[in-house]
Amino acid sequence: MITQQNRLNPGSDRFILTINGGSSSLKFALFQAGDTPVRLFSGMFERIGFPEGILTLNDVAGGTTERRTIHVPDHESCLDPLKRWLEERIRIDDILAIGHRVVHGGMTYSGPGRVTPHMLEELRRISLYDPEHLPSEIGLIDAFNKRYPNLAQIACFDTAFHRDMPRVARLLPIPRRFDKLGVQRYGFHGLSYAFLMKELARVGGRGEANGRIILAHLGNGASMAAVKGGKSVDTTMGFTPTSGMPMSRRSGDLDPGLVSYLARTEGMSVDRFHKMINTESGLLGVSEISSDLRDLLAQEQSDSRAAEAVALFCYQVRKWIGAMSAAMGGLDTLVFSAGIGENSSVIRARICDGLEFLGIIIDDARNETGNAVISKEGSSVTVRVIHTDEESEIAYQTAQCLQGSAD
Ligand code: AMP
Repeated sequence: MITQQNRLNPGSDRFILTINGGSSSLKFALFQAGDTPVRLFSGMFERIGFPEGILTLNDVAGGTTERRTIHVPDHESCLDPLKRWLEERIRIDDILAIGHRVVHGGMTYSGPGRVTPHMLEELRRISLYDPEHLPSEIGLIDAFNKRYPNLAQIACFDTAFHRDMPRVARLLPIPRRFDKLGVQRYGFHGLSYAFLMKELARVGGRGEANGRIILAHLGNGASMAAVKGGKSVDTTMGFTPTSGMPMSRRSGDLDPGLVSYLARTEGMSVDRFHKMINTESGLLGVSEISSDLRDLLAQEQSDSRAAEAVALFCYQVRKWIGAMSAAMGGLDTLVFSAGIGENSSVIRARICDGLEFLGIIIDDARNETGNAVISKEGSSVTVRVIHTDEESEIAYQTAQCLQGSAD
């Protein structure tokens, strides 16, 4: 229940609002502005476009969580309840900026930037690069612009973290003319990776953060980044976030020959194929049971489809760890993060089983108790579990961007 006591001191604070729009969800958080923004509240609209949506509100300082059903037919319809929620706590005038997560920045954007009509035009131009995310993210920026035309909006790009990847990691082996048109490997989950690198420097020190690191973001969306000397040198995702390792509903990399095979044998259209690889594949597609690894682990003893889906996921992640290590000429630190990486000791153990040749030796007791370091004393690779926080990274980049433009 929201009361006047929840309302922060009007006028005495300045805030940053973060917006992270997924395909059927919208996460938001309110931060107190500053060099290191402090999170005050966070919330999430889920099941957008379904007959019954869910709104969760979390008061960080008060330690309370509220959850209720709500009808939100599209992303824009989340704005009214969000506005009411904000106005019960702060004055909208005290918001310095809204920081948006934007999944794809194409070839143009290598860092956060203030949203301008020119940026929106460029994002619209490349929206076919990522039709799963970009159109709804542009729609949200537009909707906020319409309501709050004087409020600064900052775009924070997932692709930016990887923009300095070596040319050889960016090139796609297709006719050269496509490269100039922007058809390259970009990489994603960059906000998570940027946050994890700061955390790694904090907990492991600058020396470790400058080594050869694999950051494994294993959530509903899953990818890995190979980071050497503080820079991304390769990553598992490429032109779109559908690529790389199998995910909860996304296929990850496939044999390109499948496209013509399915078109010829099943008359599969482009749209149908797009839907299949983005929403009907991965853990859900192989198991035919669930996209949630927890459900599959619970059923793997009784249902061979669940067992195969889990085994495929662990096998592919293990293979990618090998590939990312090769890209860096070795490995010093492996970081597990996101829903699966942070919470499932069983999956972490299965992924690492067989990677002793790389110097990865897991300490079972540390792994099971969820220690921050889960490798054995003598393991030449330090294996860590670090909680990721994309909202904090959006707020941080937004604050940096505002400071930069104020200088
Ligand atoms: P994220 O996208 O980072 O929020 O991750 C969400 C996913 O993490 C869920 O769909 C689950 O598959 C997975 N997950 C969360 N907790 C666990 C757990 N304890 N064991 C296995 N998987 C988990």
